[in-house]
Amino acid sequence: MRRLQDREYEKLLDLALEKIPKVKSSKDRFEVPEPDVVVMGNRTVLRNLGEIAGAVNRRADKLMKYLLRELGTAGNLEGSRGVFQGKFGKSTIQDRVNRYVEEFVLCPVCGKPDTQIVKQGRIHMLKCEACGARSPIGGA
Ligand SMILES: [Zn+2]
Repeated sequence: MRRLQDREYEKLLDLALEKIPKVKSSKDRFEVPEPDVVVMGNRTVLRNLGEIAGAVNRRADKLMKYLLRELGTAGNLEGSRGVFQGKFGKSTIQDRVNRYVEEFVLCPVCGKPDTQIVKQGRIHMLKCEACGARSPIGGA
């Protein structure tokens, strides 16, 4: 008897779990576009910086600023492309983009990307739309 009940419960649970991905919005299928990186002479161009920033719901200039700081170089935004002085491999750029996402996009509490950056006094906080958590950014 008990076993039967457990089975029923499991079935229901399976059904419930199956339904979750369908019900949730596309935002939950969170994917950062792969960086499209080309080295041109002494410069490195991230051709889809705008697209990446859009995917994580952040401004391209903010992402650019972060990348410049992390890469320790100069550069500028040309339309939706990021142009960096120096040669950087795709994996280097990817690594920095991942760090940016971890630091400035994903909620440290629930791991969802539905966040906003808000200012609380002089501190920038990551405010999560999904779970309501507010977390200081980057421990800084
Ligand atoms: Zn959250």
